[in-house]
Amino acid sequence: MLFSLYFHIPFCVHRCAYCDFNTYAGQDSLLPAYVDALCREIEYIGCRLPVSAHRGGAGSGGGIHTIFFGGGTPSLLTPQQFEQVFRAIRKHFDPSDAETSLEANPGAVSLDYLRDLHSLGFNRISFGVQSFHPDELRQLERSHDPFDAFAALGWARRAGFDNLNLDLIYGLPQQLPDRWSASVRWAVDLAPEHLSLYALTLEHGTPFGRWAARGLLPVPDPDTAAQMYESAGDILEANGFQQYEISNWSRTGRQCQHNLQYWRNLPYLGLGAGAHGYAAGVRYSNVLRIRTYIDRMTSSTASLAFPFTPSTMNQRKVSARTRMQESLMLGLRLTDEGISNARFVEQYGLGIRDAFPDEVDDLLRLGLVEWASDSRPPVHLGSGLRLRLTPRARLVANQVFIRFVE
Ligand code: SF4
Repeated sequence: MLFSLYFHIPFCVHRCAYCDFNTYAGQDSLLPAYVDALCREIEYIGCRLPVSAHRGGAGSGGGIHTIFFGGGTPSLLTPQQFEQVFRAIRKHFDPSDAETSLEANPGAVSLDYLRDLHSLGFNRISFGVQSFHPDELRQLERSHDPFDAFAALGWARRAGFDNLNLDLIYGLPQQLPDRWSASVRWAVDLAPEHLSLYALTLEHGTPFGRWAARGLLPVPDPDTAAQMYESAGDILEANGFQQYEISNWSRTGRQCQHNLQYWRNLPYLGLGAGAHGYAAGVRYSNVLRIRTYIDRMTSSTASLAFPFTPSTMNQRKVSARTRMQESLMLGLRLTDEGISNARFVEQYGLGIRDAFPDEVDDLLRLGLVEWASDSRPPVHLGSGLRLRLTPRARLVANQVFIRFVE
């Protein structure tokens, strides 16, 4: 069994007003201790890997499908700190074939830094560009400007990266559709292999959420946001990108393998403060605070069974029924692939419609899902029918997902 590894780096120079991720500003002095704690967590979990996770049997390195450093701002780690983490990884895992990604802020990288990352084994960078308009970036409280994004992309190419993603955000308060389309076109002109487009959500507890609740910030208009989503899809498809997930487009063969692991409901190990994981039939999450995480990983002597570590805060055993529901909710995000009925049978012993007859029939009748057949399915899917969202259901996908958990 191949795991994916997710490392959460919860450090930021500044907390953006819309962000509800588990991340903290002004704690950079804890970075060296945090990296030490991450290495301890790798060691802890690596020593307890089940035999089935070892590529060549017991004693060999655990196979890894992907490695992803997310945040926060992982690009605040120095190359030496990444090297320390990779040394710890290689002691227990074999990352030689893994897609290895880093999330980076465009304003926080240099050509030398990207060269170092490439030689350390990173092969994919995801840049949080968000917009190509300076005023929109200021509204989001991002610390970079559009020129940083142009420079970062150029440096990444010169450093040897041939797999780049750009994140963009739409549906900002008072954002005009034409300005959004201009950002999408700028992104296309930079020729990345992958684009992730996210609608702004006003999360409770963030400054944006509080300002909107007090009437100080106009709430994004959902109809305009829907129009932006559709126009972006048209631009991307006209430029050779294929949509493969509700919010993600890529060149052929350049889908994000790490996120596919999540959407295919396959196991991943989450390491770091606030990281989530799913392994051995359990969903779990780590303590949120950086200092608590460091303390737990440094001083605890508890001996816990895989996949837990002293930093585990919550855990939930996933029942067979819940696994089926989660497989549908995650798999339906994959706009083309959907969920293979044959694979579902292989995993759960019954077909999708046998497990959810009323839900599937209702959604088919409403035209929100469809059965697709594929004469050339990807190998892992097996053959036969796939259940997937219809194009018009992509804008109301949450309404579809809810049907499987009611
Ligand atoms: S840089 Fe990203 S993770 Fe950090 S506060 Fe801003 S949006 Fe959140």
